[in-house]
Amino acid sequence: MNELLLPVTAVKGIGEEKAKDLLSLGISSVHDLLMYFPSRYEDYTIKDLSEVADGDKVTILGTVYAEPSVRFFGRTKSRMSVRLVVDRVVVTAIWFNQHFLKPKLTIGKEIQVTGKWERVRQQISVSETKIQPKQASNMEDITIAPVYSVSQAITVKQMRNYIQHAIVQFSDSLLEIMPADIIDKYQFVSRKQAIVGIHFPKSAEEGARSRKRLAFEELFFYQLKMQAYALQQKKISAAEPLAIPLEKVRQFVRSLPFSLTRAQKLALKDILDDLQKPHAMNRLLQGDVGSGKTVVAAAALYAVVCAGYQGALMVPTEILAEQHVTSLTKLLAPYGIQVAILTGSLGAKARRDILAGLQMGFIQVVVGTHALIQEDVYFQRLGLVITDEQHRFGVEQRKVLREKGLNPNVLFMTATPIPRTLAISVFGDMDVSTIDELPAGRKPIETYWVKEEMFDRVLSFLRKELEKGRQAYVICPLIEESEKIDVQNAVDLYSHLVQYFGLEYRIGLMHGKLPAKEKDEVMNQFSENQIGVLVSTTVVEVGVNVPNATMMIVYDAERFGLAQLHQLRGRVGRGTDQSYCILIADPKTEIGRERMRIMKETTDGFEVARRDLQLRGPGDFFGTKQSGLPEFKIADLFTDFKDLEIARAEAVAILSQEDFWRSDEYGFLRKYLEQQGIFEKKMLD
Ligand code: ADP
Ligand code: MG
Repeated sequence: MNELLLPVTAVKGIGEEKAKDLLSLGISSVHDLLMYFPSRYEDYTIKDLSEVADGDKVTILGTVYAEPSVRFFGRTKSRMSVRLVVDRVVVTAIWFNQHFLKPKLTIGKEIQVTGKWERVRQQISVSETKIQPKQASNMEDITIAPVYSVSQAITVKQMRNYIQHAIVQFSDSLLEIMPADIIDKYQFVSRKQAIVGIHFPKSAEEGARSRKRLAFEELFFYQLKMQAYALQQKKISAAEPLAIPLEKVRQFVRSLPFSLTRAQKLALKDILDDLQKPHAMNRLLQGDVGSGKTVVAAAALYAVVCAGYQGALMVPTEILAEQHVTSLTKLLAPYGIQVAILTGSLGAKARRDILAGLQMGFIQVVVGTHALIQEDVYFQRLGLVITDEQHRFGVEQRKVLREKGLNPNVLFMTATPIPRTLAISVFGDMDVSTIDELPAGRKPIETYWVKEEMFDRVLSFLRKELEKGRQAYVICPLIEESEKIDVQNAVDLYSHLVQYFGLEYRIGLMHGKLPAKEKDEVMNQFSENQIGVLVSTTVVEVGVNVPNATMMIVYDAERFGLAQLHQLRGRVGRGTDQSYCILIADPKTEIGRERMRIMKETTDGFEVARRDLQLRGPGDFFGTKQSGLPEFKIADLFTDFKDLEIARAEAVAILSQEDFWRSDEYGFLRKYLEQQGIFEKKMLD
């Protein structure tokens, strides 16, 4: 039995009660505990005071030089000051409400204190005190102390203790899991050293070394899984190559009201090439908002239908489904192609008809939310699934389709602004096409940041745009936890605008609580310019396309993340007219103000993301949860990008080795792949 799999109660000092508390942090085994890494460290390394900046937290070692003097305020409050000699300089140390320490602070005594340094007064406000700093080394003497994110029931100190004990008792069971040649090649420390070193580093270097090794390990296993999955995919996804009538597709493209950009053409070529290969496509199509992904998707659907297959487009919201149906119908109906919508709010009869149409094959293209691949949907001959602005089409969805005997080509479209090289590495199992230019004639959206006092001027600006025949969005954020109140905010703003514009212009209102039918109606009226201004909550955030809209006004913009603001701004600037984005915001923090400045200064999605990252610091890269990017425990996609690449290359190399399936050296890796559900060796051969 592997000792590491024992329950945490095997660790000295952890009883049943504490085990329950630990479980709430996701820790149940000894291994979990050892893998619970610190979120940061407290540095108690003794520093030279001349190098410490004013206001910094510092630890110093000094000798008591004069009797402590204590002043009391009331019964319990006190302020004690003691003069210490630190490196031949006299420093004043101040304690609050700790006068009980006084008897221990005798003249000549050496003590170690940690606290905030005030340079001008040569004074330290003490938060931690050690009276006998030079004791034999033990837990209390660590100079770089790990800080864990803990729950209320467990203190950081307890956590340190538990992990310390776990290391003493069990660290010998931490065996190496990475191939020896990789360890050698990159001079990584052993797994045991790294795990001990990340919890209790003796120096900053040791901490960094340990982290690097563990981050690489995480990236390596991620890549191993992705690359094995890609191999397996290629193997089992043997698919009929589609016989695409290329001349017809060219004709379709030529008949569009505009010519495709170079990047759109390249992306379409990638897709058409894939469709003609003898295995299923698994491709990511990325491009900033407004770069024109939809028309590429339409051409791909057209090609598939011409080859005698059906296509499906999956989108995250019903509004988006509606809109795509409208634009696809416009493009495809002239060729006799039937486009249908399938969403949760469809009536029973309509649903039945569409299901029948799909099964019998007279509906060739269907657009819908994830309901699309649910149990009772059957296709006559599904050739292509496209997902738009959605989490990646993962292993799960593929499984659902495969269980129906389907193995379609899959195209995943995203506006996540990451550089192509990073995308290739991160989505290791996918091929990547990037639309890296906007259609010609687009003018950068002019972005302004104003305070609410300026709202009247914003409205007169808005009126000017409306007079030119343009349209606008006014977005209200999610302010309260309660959807009811949010809707109220949108309603209030709506009434205000109705009053302001009177009979001159029609104002529309859109929010999540409206019945699906009304949403469609409002959206259609807006598309057809029967509504001049659309007041909305963030339901319009992704994908909506009304090129005549030239103004995006975002209320309380400081409540949105940068990625979200960029998405919202992408709703305008979709035609050749100059567009405007007006952020109404009064951020209370410097970071908040900086975010508004970033929006003002750049319209490039990747630049926005990069600066967002700088502001937030690593760890919350691009708001990983929303973007469909993987979340790592310790590795960071941005700072560890090079390692991600190296890990990918190593994973590819290992999987292509003759003896990967035999050699003992790779036993653990094979077992890991098996656990990931990728174990059918035959599949990889
Ligand atoms: P996104 O990539 O954000 O999904 P869309 O596909 O919605 O972008 O396209 C944005 C707008 O640009 C649409 O109105 C579309 O018709 C238009 N468009 C797409 N490609 C071109 C092009 N090559 N030239 C001019 N306009 C284009
Ligand atoms: Mg789109």
